[in-house]
Amino acid sequence: MSRLFQLISPVVLAALFSSCAGPSVPSSAGRDVLGHRPGPKGFRTVIIDAGHGGKDSGATSPHTRQMEKDLTLDLAKRLRAELSGDFKTILMRDDDTFIDLDERVIRANQFGGILVSLHFNSGPSGIRGPETYYWRVDSHGLAVRCQQAMASVSPGESGNRGLVRRRIRLTRNPEIPCLLLEGGYLSNPAESRLCADPAYRQKLARAIAGAIRAQAANGDAGTGPLPPPLTAPPSRPTDAPE
Ligand SMILES: [Zn+2]
Repeated sequence: MSRLFQLISPVVLAALFSSCAGPSVPSSAGRDVLGHRPGPKGFRTVIIDAGHGGKDSGATSPHTRQMEKDLTLDLAKRLRAELSGDFKTILMRDDDTFIDLDERVIRANQFGGILVSLHFNSGPSGIRGPETYYWRVDSHGLAVRCQQAMASVSPGESGNRGLVRRRIRLTRNPEIPCLLLEGGYLSNPAESRLCADPAYRQKLARAIAGAIRAQAANGDAGTGPLPPPLTAPPSRPTDAPE
């Protein structure tokens, strides 16, 4: 990419987004239905969503018997501690409570800022490594930063499974920048044991906090080209499993 294009591209992109999304779209903060805009900079509020809870256990590790809902709550509290002082942090849940996904979206829209939903993955036992799900254009830079951060504390053999652009309720439906982070595969024996280690969850929390801080300070700078805007309808409970 030429230096000239690097210099003009944010301006051109901003113009494109505002012209196709209408005049009421704010530049990089506040609510926006589709998120067809560059990522946020200077935000002060971080909503931390511990995935699952209550009757919804999420995945259960066949190796350690730990439940995803407990690991996500622990990671959420560690992330809150890492961010406190620099940000206003809101935990979507701070105990073992079930909250419907649509209700989480409603609450996120009320709080504003950015939303980070924390999960642990499950799949074939040979697959491992952190993953980041996003859908909105304004969530791409933060997704790049969070994925890089998780990969940086993940062992080399885990690899870097990278970003997944997927329309699910917590990536498509909030009207604020939002991500779903998968800290590792509980179905993989080695990674499941790693995720069971509080010291590793602390490393993950510190890395994710660093990514959020970098996004607040720099916006999308250095996170690569923005993905194309997509206009798909909101995700519904009847869509593919989330
Ligand atoms: Zn999950």
